[in-house]
Amino acid sequence: MFEVNGEYLLYHGSSVGIFQISRLANEILDLRQEYDLNTVEQRLKQKYPISEIKEALAGLKEAGIFEQDKNLKQFKKYGDPERVIQLIVSQDCNLRCDYCFADKGAYGRERTLMDETMAKASVDFLFSWLQQVERDVGEIAFFGGEPLMNMPVIEVVIAYAKEMSSRLGRTVKFGLTTNGTIINGDIVDLIKKNKIATMVSIDGSAQRHNLHRRFPSGKGSYHVVRRNSRKLIDAGIYPWARATFSQKNLEVDKIILHLATLGFTNVVCSVAQPSARHDGCSEKLDAPWTSAQVMRYKDSYKRYMSKIVQRYNGNELPINNLLLRFLKSIHFHTKQYLFCGAGQNLVAITPDGEIYPCARFAGVQKYRLGNISSGFRQFVPSKESIITRKSCSRCWARHLCGGGCPADNVFRRSTKTKEMYCSLVKFHIEQAIWLYNKLMQTNKEKFLQYLNQTKSRGDRLTRTKGGDNYDAHKKDK
Ligand code: SF4
Ligand code: SF4
Repeated sequence: MFEVNGEYLLYHGSSVGIFQISRLANEILDLRQEYDLNTVEQRLKQKYPISEIKEALAGLKEAGIFEQDKNLKQFKKYGDPERVIQLIVSQDCNLRCDYCFADKGAYGRERTLMDETMAKASVDFLFSWLQQVERDVGEIAFFGGEPLMNMPVIEVVIAYAKEMSSRLGRTVKFGLTTNGTIINGDIVDLIKKNKIATMVSIDGSAQRHNLHRRFPSGKGSYHVVRRNSRKLIDAGIYPWARATFSQKNLEVDKIILHLATLGFTNVVCSVAQPSARHDGCSEKLDAPWTSAQVMRYKDSYKRYMSKIVQRYNGNELPINNLLLRFLKSIHFHTKQYLFCGAGQNLVAITPDGEIYPCARFAGVQKYRLGNISSGFRQFVPSKESIITRKSCSRCWARHLCGGGCPADNVFRRSTKTKEMYCSLVKFHIEQAIWLYNKLMQTNKEKFLQYLNQTKSRGDRLTRTKGGDNYDAHKKDK
């Protein structure tokens, strides 16, 4: 329950709804945390007429406020009609970011590129997967290391996938996550021609970005990335910015404002994540933030919220992916039973054809799901379920959180750090509830238009400015 501007707001976890409630309903819910409904009624009798109490109780019951989650079968509701392969075409990188979860692009293995034969076989795998699960839409997300180090194979994959989609009557989309350092005119043309949803990693201003994202020489990569991002934006491509926070770079308002000034209209934010390999660098990333760092982060996040309200005019200030996910879930009453589709509707494929739940798990034998010739077993993270995991099943934020990133859940070792991230998730959700209420009060029409426009967008990429998707390639001639 929250009090905003003298109004009582209730976020109800089981129905993922926000309700504006009366003072009496607020008191009922307060008492309900300790007592059964009869006792609540008795206790309030001295203060309110019984008819009012009964009316308030009936209203809360009708809204489903006292209902609990039913069972694990609801798991199946998590669904995305598409199937996605993260194709690690390059197990190598030209940068040496110190927070890299993929061991500077090599995933703890020999640096190598995917060859043409394996790349085509991966495309065949995607189409046979689509056929098996009777889905029409597949996405190939080029991933690394730095995927653009293997341009010839990317070109082969695109041509082959388009030919296959035409032959089989299925639809294929393309995505690319790049560090933005090797984008030239030919690459811009390729991205544009093939409507590749592109995400460029950039962590804010030069000073912030260069803290972590450097070339092997130690030189920061900001100016190259900025120049190359401009090439994409000038060509009308509107890439997403992917900003990674760290203990050294956690002022979210400054990071997002800077990215907006560079012309980015969509931003994906995440915290630097530890890898499975737990090298020295990963150990540092796994350390909990100090209370001063948490405070600085929260203050900057609140400033970001206020700036969105002040400047709200469609997409003028990017609403980051996680915030958008919360806002959409609140508005459309959609529950998250899992954090993401890793190992279910998304898998990562390494240059040797091995399949993992997503790139975060790549190269960790324990999590290998199979390979492209023999198929794979589904990764059903039942232990990760918000219903089966004790701490989540009791958490009010569970249906918006979805239980957290499965890779973080297994690779983060420190319980203290895990608890800290849970408290940050809850803070983000409280802020999203506040923002939702605020924008509904101050700019309802535009806000609803924005939410409806982004309704069909998954948590993955949008393709153009303002959130419209590129057309995918269907039966491309
Ligand atoms: S660009 Fe990406 S893959 Fe390369 S070192 Fe940096 S974080 Fe790792
Ligand atoms: S915030 Fe933490 S405890 Fe709550 S649902 Fe998310 S992962 Fe589970």
